[in-house]
Amino acid sequence: MNEKILVTRSSMPDFDEYCNEIKGLWESHWLTNMGEKHMQLQKALEDTLGVSHVTLYTNGHLALENIIAAMDLPEHGEVITTPFTFASTTHSIVRNGLEPVFCDINATDYTIDTDLIENLITDKTCAIVPVHVYGNLCDVEKIQKIADKYDLKVIYDAAHAFGVTYKGVNAACFGYASMFSFHATKVFNTIEGGAICYSDDSLVQKLNDMKNFGIHSPEEVIYAGGNAKMNEFQAAMGICNLRHLDDEIEKRRRVTEHYRSRLENVSGITLCRPQADVKQNYAYFPAVFDEKLFGATRDEVCQALADNNINARKYFYPLTNTFDCFKGKYDAGKTPVALHISKRVLTLPLYADLSTESVDRICDVILGLKKAD
Ligand SMILES: *Cc1c(COP(=O)(O)O)cnc(C)c1O
Repeated sequence: MNEKILVTRSSMPDFDEYCNEIKGLWESHWLTNMGEKHMQLQKALEDTLGVSHVTLYTNGHLALENIIAAMDLPEHGEVITTPFTFASTTHSIVRNGLEPVFCDINATDYTIDTDLIENLITDKTCAIVPVHVYGNLCDVEKIQKIADKYDLKVIYDAAHAFGVTYKGVNAACFGYASMFSFHATKVFNTIEGGAICYSDDSLVQKLNDMKNFGIHSPEEVIYAGGNAKMNEFQAAMGICNLRHLDDEIEKRRRVTEHYRSRLENVSGITLCRPQADVKQNYAYFPAVFDEKLFGATRDEVCQALADNNINARKYFYPLTNTFDCFKGKYDAGKTPVALHISKRVLTLPLYADLSTESVDRICDVILGLKKAD
């Protein structure tokens, strides 16, 4: 049997590099709560991303929950978002007592369809939470125009977009704030981790307090906050991985190019096209299968890969507006493009060290299912 190929594999620095980074912790015994490594990573990210402020978190989800909470939106306010995303995006809205209003995605890059946003705005709309799906950037200019017209704030779920730039500007810089995930499976990881990037100075102290139980000073607790702090071991991993970011993205680019050379122009397979003026991070490799043209369904492709010891992922499936926990609440029929794509998309294995031979093995299985044109 061929060696197992997982859908992703976390990038790690050399063991010695990490050990060197954490050595000081055995002298300071300061392991969390805005320690030296935490402050060092925060500064390094502000410089790398070209953003005024970075607040670090123990994971991306709590980062998103916290920034939404920090905006003091009206109870039961409506937040426009998309269902073609990871559970986290929708849950962070719902868990703040807000109402997600699902906008459809466009069929080109699977981000929010900006032509449909205005129709969904009501007098209860209080924010927009779009997602840079697979590292494809939303139409940030159009979204900002709409947000300005209706005086709404935009929070980007940029979990997939670390390292992506548009016209030279980092994804961290769009909207009121952007959330990154530094989960083990992302392009840049801190084991688990996340960040909010923003320019509003008044948020700095607020977010730092909120992620630490709302404790403002030893005798002042001003929010009923939770605990979402990044610890020193996470920050040390981030400091190391950040040194290798360019190399990580370059290796992912090579894997992606090889996939493209094998799967581009195959009838029945649709790949994401590179976006104009966007420097990509090659976070995922989604392929959409059209049964009629290709000759096999997405589920059949996924199963054939599994039979060959290859893990692909139905990402994103199911849509968040069809989750069991929301049964009867939303109608996925109102987001037909998202529904169509979620039933046909498969993200193929992609990580920095995935070999050309492995990519060939994966593509051979897929193309073996292709019916004659
Ligand atoms: C990974 C991810 C998150 C959540 O990040 P965690 O760090 O795992 O909490 C949120 N949104 C999207 C789109 C993601 O892919």
